[in-house]
Amino acid sequence: CGIVGYIGFREAYPIVIKGLKRLEYRGYDSAGILLYDGADLKVSKTKGKVADLEEKASTKITTNGTIGMGHTRWATHGVPNDLNSHPHVSNSGDLTIIHNGIIENYAPLKKELINRGYTFSSDTDSEVLINLIEDVQKKDKLKLGKAVQVALNQVVGAYAICVFDKKKPNEIIAARLGSPLAIGVGEGEFFIASDASPFLEYTSNAIYLEDEQMAIVRLHKPLKIRKIKDDSLVDPYIQELQM
Ligand code: GLU
Repeated sequence: CGIVGYIGFREAYPIVIKGLKRLEYRGYDSAGILLYDGADLKVSKTKGKVADLEEKASTKITTNGTIGMGHTRWATHGVPNDLNSHPHVSNSGDLTIIHNGIIENYAPLKKELINRGYTFSSDTDSEVLINLIEDVQKKDKLKLGKAVQVALNQVVGAYAICVFDKKKPNEIIAARLGSPLAIGVGEGEFFIASDASPFLEYTSNAIYLEDEQMAIVRLHKPLKIRKIKDDSLVDPYIQELQM
């Protein structure tokens, strides 16, 4: 399973697709992509290979955005099919998540969200997490990063996630516990991926998130890394990778 995210000035689609192919070795059963072109959120996902996704996405994705997130899924909750593939979109249609890992306490969280009026279109634990983030964000009028943090503190399990809010399209929130996540730091662009292979050709500057850390990745802003548990800021340690 794998994650690729891009926010910058290049067309995201080829970067994300190529990146997903480089992560194929990690194993997966489905693939999906989200692109944002400044106006529309485009989501395409399918059971099968990244090559199948390319075929499916090409008919749907006509304009390319400079923000993108791609996912390869190794199903843990819900069979491998198109609906259970990632990305997952929140009930409002604003928030999107890609997730590798398992939310172990998804069942009680889902029950509570259903009681609060949320509906679900997949059987995944990941769709529960994105709606939990939305619920927290709305209830307490929180910024996205804060809402992700509060939600993650209610979660038991393992994750590498990227979260995107189309109302705040200059930002991607990334977080990890148990599943790897690296951030490539370019000039005017950022990459997020399960390992550095999707971005090595663009930048050799990488930050490896540690467990229980989240990154607030904003265009033209310094990267912020926080500890999920206590909100403390962490000095980003940028490694110079061998190209
Ligand atoms: N638990 C999630 C699902 O079943 C993510 C699986 C993964 O790691 O790809 O959809």
